[in-house]
Amino acid sequence: MSIQIQNLTKQYSANGTDTRRAVDDLTFSVEPGQIVGFLGPNGAGKSTTMKIATGYLPPSSGTVLVNGHDVQTDPMAVRRSVGYLPEHNPLYLDLYVKEFLRFAGRLHTLSGQALSQRVADVLEQVGLGPEQHKRIGQLSKGYRQRVGLAQALLHNPPVLILDEPTTGLDPNQLADIRQVIKTAGRDKTVLFSTHIMQEVEALCDRVVIINRGQLVADSPLAELRTRYGGGQLVDTATYLAEFERDLPDPALLRSLPGVTAVERTGQGQYQVTAPANADLRAAIFRLAADRNLTLIGLRQQETSLEGVFKTLTGGNE
Ligand code: ADP
Repeated sequence: MSIQIQNLTKQYSANGTDTRRAVDDLTFSVEPGQIVGFLGPNGAGKSTTMKIATGYLPPSSGTVLVNGHDVQTDPMAVRRSVGYLPEHNPLYLDLYVKEFLRFAGRLHTLSGQALSQRVADVLEQVGLGPEQHKRIGQLSKGYRQRVGLAQALLHNPPVLILDEPTTGLDPNQLADIRQVIKTAGRDKTVLFSTHIMQEVEALCDRVVIINRGQLVADSPLAELRTRYGGGQLVDTATYLAEFERDLPDPALLRSLPGVTAVERTGQGQYQVTAPANADLRAAIFRLAADRNLTLIGLRQQETSLEGVFKTLTGGNE
């Protein structure tokens, strides 16, 4: 097992005045080579679990093994085995990209030619080549996220632990970062947290869902789909279509096959809802072409996992 979490409990208050457990007797494991989505409502205990698994916080009780090393008795071996992208991706904004990565590499005792080679490799891997001479503070959020991922990959660890790697990114940046994670996942074990259902669908072999520090589901994605959604974890998809001007008749959208609701959200902007298995993008595009309407934007909205959490946790947030 690459990550083995056994009866893990964490209480933040050291003196026992606060008895609430951020993580409560949690047990699950991640097998080598898997990409596992780690899900749960805000405050469920995901970040706490990840901080413990990367050696940044001690557990109150229970054990965590990463690549066979115990986080409490062998923390240095754990840090060598794991690349960690913390929530909010803390970076030194005044440093240049390459300078920061060389610094991070030296913390992993890389030096000389090996350091230069690894920095060049990860810059390439995350698509940061053209930005490597910029200050981190000058980069967009998407590029900063790439710097965080590059830092996590630098010492070529067999395990990656990524805490909400795509939160706050725009759709293009999302797609790029997902691709980096997917590629990295070909030869690494990845545990990452997210709120976005499409991300789980796009990346994961398996999902682990927690609520109030406790396990509520641990299964392959396909199994979870059949168990909870008759084949679909999310039952509806929403599209945001933007035309140059208001439609002559909003019923045009409503009449497309599968459409269950249309709402005008602004000048020429419509939110269109349909079952998740009916991809409406081509139909909307054709409608625009047939009617000579200028379509200036069309995207599928990311679905949050709230509905799934509600089903799994009985609405208990
Ligand atoms: P998630 O990542 O799933 O949103 P967290 O692990 O951040 O959840 O938080 C789990 C619980 O632990 C929450 O109730 C949160 O308020 C609490 N918590 C997190 N960090 C601390 C801290 N440093 N001190 C005290 N309580 C904390």
